[in-house]
Amino acid sequence: MVQVRGLWKSFGPNAVLRGVDLDVPAGSVTVVLGPSGSGKSTLLRSINHLEKVDRGFVAIDGELIGYRRVGDRLHELKEREVLRQRTGIGFVFQNFNLFPHLTVLENLVEAPVGALRRPKAEARARALELLERVGLAEKADAYPRQLSGGQQQRVAIARALALDPKVLLFDEPTSALDPELVGEVLDVVRDLAGAGTTMIVVTHEIGFAREVADTVVFMDDGVVVEQGPPAEVLDAPRHERTRAFLAKVL
Ligand code: ATP
Ligand code: MG
Repeated sequence: MVQVRGLWKSFGPNAVLRGVDLDVPAGSVTVVLGPSGSGKSTLLRSINHLEKVDRGFVAIDGELIGYRRVGDRLHELKEREVLRQRTGIGFVFQNFNLFPHLTVLENLVEAPVGALRRPKAEARARALELLERVGLAEKADAYPRQLSGGQQQRVAIARALALDPKVLLFDEPTSALDPELVGEVLDVVRDLAGAGTTMIVVTHEIGFAREVADTVVFMDDGVVVEQGPPAEVLDAPRHERTRAFLAKVL
């Protein structure tokens, strides 16, 4: 379960998150929508402490991310501790971010062996299982540049899963893809949802949100304007700002 409480974040004079609260129960899928610049990426980056927030906190299964509590104050954790916490938070980026000099299999084995000290043979077996799951077992020895964008993104998802994360964060996982490749990536995300993976997905794919999300969150200008089941937020939005946004993307 992911808890976000009272999150504030500014870049200079620009207040990008202005008191964001969010609860993502274990096994559920939250889709975050909102206009460009509304703070969606900053929210995801704050959840795994790629951004240091000004106020508020993130907790996953009750564990504060990036901080420890001492009395009534929060102290920032050492980088090593933050890295350990991040192994429990999978992050899939818009631009795949695979290691270009490693094969597909090596991309999946690197972090479990390097960060979690898993035995290499075990990590390889698990990697092959995950590649099978995303339909790419036959690409184990290929290099990222030899794959299509859709295939690279499926590898990136498998790589995130290789650490057995408690939650998976997706930041517009299909927006860098040619339209004909979007479906194969969304199919993988849909399968993960069916298997009970806890996920927060930033996307403009409204059809996908309607079908897969348990909760849809609409953000604008650094706040959650409204949230609820897709049938409410997408089909009967209560706020004018949500209606205006949906009118543009639908
Ligand atoms: P998009 O849909 O375009 O991806 P977004 O909702 O993800 O937008 P963010 O990337 O979170 O929006 O950015 C929110 C605001 O914060 C923007 O005004 C952006 O310029 C600003 N911002 C984000 N990162 C930084 C940074 N590292 N330094 C300064 N400003 C930043
Ligand atoms: Mg963004």
